[in-house]
Amino acid sequence: MKHRATVYLDNNSTTQCAPEVIEAMLPFFAGNHGNAASPHILGQQAAGAVALARDSIGELIGCAPSEICFTSCATEANNLVILGLTEVRTKRTKILASAIEHKSVLGPCEAMAQKGFEFAKLPIGKDGLVDLDWARRLIDDRTLLVSVQGANNEIGTIQPVRELADIAHEHGAAFHCDAAQLLGKQPVSLDAIGADFASFSSHKAYGPKGIGFLVTRNRVRNLSIAPIWYGGGQENGLRPGTLNVPGIVGAGEACRLCNLWLKDDMRRIVSLRLLLEQGFADLIPESRSIARDSPRLPGTVSVMFPGVTADLLIARTPSLCVSMGSACSSGTVAPSHVLLALGLSRDEARSVVRFSLGRYNTVGDVQTALRSLSSDLREIFSNDPKPVPNSESVVVAREELIP
Ligand code: PLP
Repeated sequence: MKHRATVYLDNNSTTQCAPEVIEAMLPFFAGNHGNAASPHILGQQAAGAVALARDSIGELIGCAPSEICFTSCATEANNLVILGLTEVRTKRTKILASAIEHKSVLGPCEAMAQKGFEFAKLPIGKDGLVDLDWARRLIDDRTLLVSVQGANNEIGTIQPVRELADIAHEHGAAFHCDAAQLLGKQPVSLDAIGADFASFSSHKAYGPKGIGFLVTRNRVRNLSIAPIWYGGGQENGLRPGTLNVPGIVGAGEACRLCNLWLKDDMRRIVSLRLLLEQGFADLIPESRSIARDSPRLPGTVSVMFPGVTADLLIARTPSLCVSMGSACSSGTVAPSHVLLALGLSRDEARSVVRFSLGRYNTVGDVQTALRSLSSDLREIFSNDPKPVPNSESVVVAREELIP
């Protein structure tokens, strides 16, 4: 195997923890290690740090600190809202989610379908966006919950969540937004989204892994969610368990930094994405960016390389950290449900590679990635008469794109 410098272009899977975040967390592992529920001085210090973190998170996403319930990750937050709402039986028996939701939304919806709920998937257009006409037809007065993600993890499309929330509300249904991919990548205003519930994950936004949160807007407090665990009553009994103070402090610091840096991050990341997309077009003119013309996260490029099997390409270059399909389900050979829902054939879906850029990527990373791909594609196509151009000249010529 060739030795190449590692380039990380997999920021939708997870992000590097910001150094400032690590620094903020460290005292809460030792020295300041109190349990936030303890009445003594170390407990009070921990509780104070948790309160500050809630403030920073609330400021970034536009909610009251008291609306935040800490969980271990977005998967848990998604399960909590879907299982918790359906557990409290009402006359409403229907749940809806888009066909391209993360498995942590589709999984609990399917589990509830086994228990007698009617579960329907909202169809997606070729543009990677939920079809609003279908949503209007499917959401009705029997609907308990509509769950649609803010942005898709594989193709980056930003969904029309406000419109969907309004349709859900017209029928008295609750609206949940899995906003895991918005945090740290796109400005989030929960008021603008109109969601009653929203799920987030710190590790997608330069915070630590192992901490997420579910936001329940105060206006739906009367809509009971049953906890899925029982215990010591933390987080108002909705999510009992000793609070992960270092994780919460890290999530809070990550959100505070996003509040300061998000606009700059987005501007830089868009420039890098344009450079990358131009590089692909130059390397393989037949390559196709999925949902290219739809509103998308600034740093996500899902690109189809016709004739190339994504897992083989990725296996050739382990130092180029990218994904095929969803990282959470890679390891399975099945083509991504997201790409199939867009109407791609199984072979087309298998030739899609996802590149996701983040705060710590540089022009050099994009250049290295393109060089590496150029050489791998050259080898893959060595039996193919189609020439693969030399990426180095291509890449250097475009450096002026980056401010
Ligand atoms: N929802 C979306 C849209 C995601 O992209 C992911 C992770 O990839 C999750 C939920 C799950 O997040 P976590 O890793 O925090 O469980």
